[in-house]
Amino acid sequence: MQTVEANMKQKVQELWGKRPLIISGPCSAETEEQLVQTAQQLAATGKVDMLRAGIWKPRTKPGLFEGIGAKGLPWLQHAKKLTGLPTAVEVATAKQVEDALTFDVDVLWVGARTTVNPFSVQEVADALRGVDIPVLIKNPINPDLELWTGAVERIARAGIQRIGLIHRGFSSYGNSEYRNAPMWHLAIEMKRRNPNMIIINDPSHICGKRDNLLETAQRAIDLDFDGLMIESHIDPDQAWSDAKQQVTPTRLKEMLDAIIWRKEDVASESYHEALEKLRQQINHLDDELMQILSHRMKVAERIGQYKKDNNITILQTNRWNEILDRVVKQGENLGLSNEFITKYFDAVHMESINHQKKVLDS
Ligand code: PEP
Ligand code: MN
Repeated sequence: MQTVEANMKQKVQELWGKRPLIISGPCSAETEEQLVQTAQQLAATGKVDMLRAGIWKPRTKPGLFEGIGAKGLPWLQHAKKLTGLPTAVEVATAKQVEDALTFDVDVLWVGARTTVNPFSVQEVADALRGVDIPVLIKNPINPDLELWTGAVERIARAGIQRIGLIHRGFSSYGNSEYRNAPMWHLAIEMKRRNPNMIIINDPSHICGKRDNLLETAQRAIDLDFDGLMIESHIDPDQAWSDAKQQVTPTRLKEMLDAIIWRKEDVASESYHEALEKLRQQINHLDDELMQILSHRMKVAERIGQYKKDNNITILQTNRWNEILDRVVKQGENLGLSNEFITKYFDAVHMESINHQKKVLDS
């Protein structure tokens, strides 16, 4: 048994550097049969590296299925024995860490509702002191990179060496296309801050439904994510949690086959030369943009001077609406999205206001 576990440790060690790393399994372990069958079908795809299953489920409202609890842990051991797939479980308390370790869970993850709570993250971190196990940390439910970073720091300070990030989107009020808005720029920034950490995308919790899982997964791969965590179930519609977003192992395989796997780089000289030329062009264009922006601000300052002399307010809503209308229309013709133009000119306008304010205060 000891060598089996040692081999599994070695396997997990190797998987940590594998791209893409594919983690799949049910939102929740429900019965031994459901878990084992899902695991066997996942293993049969030949595409899945690790089996996930929620054992303790943090549910938004009481009265819903809150996870099978520690009695599901031997089922995971059984599924691992039958399939050779290492296992991953969400933990939120010291007791859950202890139980998961007792049953040889190979990878732990901190859920989005735990990452938001420093007390809970610290409790998990303290329980992990002296343990050598990889830990994945989901983004907090709210779009706060400092909170995500804080959780990473707490787990790192406990001595955990292999830490990975899971991007599962951010919740907001009201209906949207997504269950949790991806806000890709936040994941990109987190990746930039932690260049040596793997980052995995969880399209299941971003989408909340099966429809656009593939599109979201592809987007993540295009953005150089290291892997995917996708929920799967032998009978998704009957799942006890997150039924709408789970897929069968067969559908998962179809999706993984459909994804265009991109490399971060290639060793081709002509590719690098061509890229280098285009990047030079981008640099020149960016230089010009900066010059133009600076010029625009100087003009705004002159307007500021006139406003000051005549005691006029900085913000003139009509004029701002007129600018926005004009540029959005123009943007359409130039292939620039309404969303981008609005955000971009909003930033430019705010900078203009700040320049004018300085003039008015001088
Ligand atoms: C889960 O992975 O099933 C889960 C509860 O996810 P999250 O923490 O992202 O909500
Ligand atoms: Mn889930």
